[in-house]
Amino acid sequence: MKVLHTIEALRNELAPLKRAGKVIGLVPTMGALHEGHTSLIDACVSAADCTVVSVFLNPIQFGKNEDLDKYPKKLEADAKLAEEHGAAFVFAPAPEEMYPAGDPLTLVRNEKLEGLYCGQYRKGHFRGVLTVVAKLFLISGADLAVFGEKDYQQLFLVKQMVNDLNFPVKILSVPTVREPSGLALSSRNDYLPKAERKKAAAIYEGLKKAKAAYDGGERFVSQLRDIVIQTVLKSGGNVQYVEIASAASLKKLVGRLKDDRIVILVAAIFGTEVKTRLIDNIELGGE
Ligand code: AMP
Repeated sequence: MKVLHTIEALRNELAPLKRAGKVIGLVPTMGALHEGHTSLIDACVSAADCTVVSVFLNPIQFGKNEDLDKYPKKLEADAKLAEEHGAAFVFAPAPEEMYPAGDPLTLVRNEKLEGLYCGQYRKGHFRGVLTVVAKLFLISGADLAVFGEKDYQQLFLVKQMVNDLNFPVKILSVPTVREPSGLALSSRNDYLPKAERKKAAAIYEGLKKAKAAYDGGERFVSQLRDIVIQTVLKSGGNVQYVEIASAASLKKLVGRLKDDRIVILVAAIFGTEVKTRLIDNIELGGE
């Protein structure tokens, strides 16, 4: 396993493999790898001949008041984990390698969906994500790439970008890996002391309660949202949003639901010392 820091070094390593017809798989991450990430690496290793894990804390997807500076950095441990799970390369470029002229002038945007849900609270986030993912696809020449279902809107937008722009990249997705409490694993969980993490399990608890209500026949968006909101509030969290969207279009749904596949999307803030924004989701219906 090699750790590479430049675009040229990665291209030089991958070119002969591509010429030999090997399938290149990419797992884009921001580092501080946990079992959520390693499940993506495992899926990639199963599907590709050569797995590249990118570890890049992408500055252009962070807002001014967000946690770019304090985001956990653990490159050595990340490389070890990636190697243990069968990755061939870790690509860990510096910001100057990816953006030599500072903020890029050419951006990939999804004008219709980038401002919904997380995008409402993180201005510019998704154009930063789509731009870096497009760059990573072009730099690596990956045949497939693996993303987590935890970041539901991100996964949806990446798939849409691949369709809209004809990237020759197959997108695979992996279910959310959780702590035994149900809390979705996230590098940002590192910000939370144990007691706060325990409280944050209410996010998934609320989603499961809403799913139980839905399975029991509840079809009113307001009722289902309220179940999640109340569960989070009772546990001491602040709700940023709870919305119900069509799984097919990501369009926000209101009123009474039909029996199509839907997703409940949540962002909530836990933690007293460090306010930590966590997201989660659950898909329902449409079976
Ligand atoms: P990040 O490093 O947070 O940008 O995440 C990199 C990739 O790992 C994204 O595709 C995420 O959706 C995925 N991921 C993060 N946490 C989890 C998790 N708990 N389960 C599954 N995938 C995850």
